[in-house]
Amino acid sequence: MCIFCEIANKNIDSKIVYEDDFCIAFNDVAPAAPTHVLVIPKQHVANVNEASSELLSRIMQAVKEVVKALGISEYRLISNCGESSGQTVFHLHFHILGGKNLGKLCD
Ligand code: 5GP
Ligand code: ZN
Repeated sequence: MCIFCEIANKNIDSKIVYEDDFCIAFNDVAPAAPTHVLVIPKQHVANVNEASSELLSRIMQAVKEVVKALGISEYRLISNCGESSGQTVFHLHFHILGGKNLGKLCD
């Protein structure tokens, strides 16, 4: 079972900030910004390429709930797709980054 499946199944501890029937959101273990939350589907899907539109829609609904719960309205939403993009965990996840001026997207 992949590490994010383990987190979704609560076999591995994480700081969960949101949960619904389809998704779970938790703090990134190595935060890149004051706010760094990962939103994942409970179902194992490798990345956006493998996800249905319906699942992506559920995740986007969850993202909106998460930022509301976090009390932020300005943030960056990233989903790395494939090794060369920087994806290291091959269970679909969206990074919510905020809490500071994030600057430009890429070097
Ligand atoms: P990626 O590089 O695949 O887009 O992002 C994977 C993210 O997962 C990284 O930001 C990394 O810090 C985070 N991460 C990896 N393992 C764990 C873990 O066991 N717990 C938590 N909370 N985050 C993790
Ligand atoms: Zn998984």
